[in-house]
Amino acid sequence: MQPSPVYSEYPRKLTTQELELMLFILPEERAGYHAYRQQIQELVVIGEGRRGKGEIILGKENESPNFDEPLTPVFAYGVIETTFGNISVTAREISLEQASIEIVSSKGESIPATFEELRRWTYSTWMPGAPCPQCSTPVRETLIRTDAQEQLTLALCKHDKRIWVYEGHRQIVRLIPVTNFYNELMLNKNIRDPSIALDSRLLFSMLDSYSDADLTHAFKAYNKLKVKIHMQGEIQTSNEIPQGIVSKLKRFFTT
Ligand SMILES: [Zn+2]
Repeated sequence: MQPSPVYSEYPRKLTTQELELMLFILPEERAGYHAYRQQIQELVVIGEGRRGKGEIILGKENESPNFDEPLTPVFAYGVIETTFGNISVTAREISLEQASIEIVSSKGESIPATFEELRRWTYSTWMPGAPCPQCSTPVRETLIRTDAQEQLTLALCKHDKRIWVYEGHRQIVRLIPVTNFYNELMLNKNIRDPSIALDSRLLFSMLDSYSDADLTHAFKAYNKLKVKIHMQGEIQTSNEIPQGIVSKLKRFFTT
């Protein structure tokens, strides 16, 4: 196997391999990924990202990577399993017309130009009702609605200890950082025992003890800290309360 060609000059076009791996995690038939593809269509590789080798920055031809802004959230993620190890592919939110695409080997080596692929998977193709794309086991799902009729599906995989959310209106899936989500869950549940509150792995072993309302509250609080998922309307957090008493309780849940 030949190592990947080394590029020292920018701007350059994406290599065939980079393009193929990137497009895999951006399925065209889904509205949100289609829009992302459209946005990066005119962009070229303008440099290496701040995460180092394997992270490339797409931008306008005459620009250089902008590192003044914080790293943007993950927009799409997938893995290629090969005989030499896993290759992960991460696309981040576009900011100031620049996008970060990271293609790295789990072994920290550069990606060979050719390799034997065993299988590939991405969260980007996940739909509510489907098993986990990584381990194929059923996931815990919580349907979240906003008062503007948008729907999100929060999904948690106990096996891989991962959380993601499917945005129904844009048909995209986003990964949610487990620690941040768990912190909000603990605050909302008023759990202060450090042996529980500081151990986010317990989220998955104790998942059955949290109701859909608990998970919805935690997601709402998480998303409020710094809005990552833009929605029309407020998230409804009264989904487990009988309709008759919703209005009486509403003021407690809409603060
Ligand atoms: Zn899984």
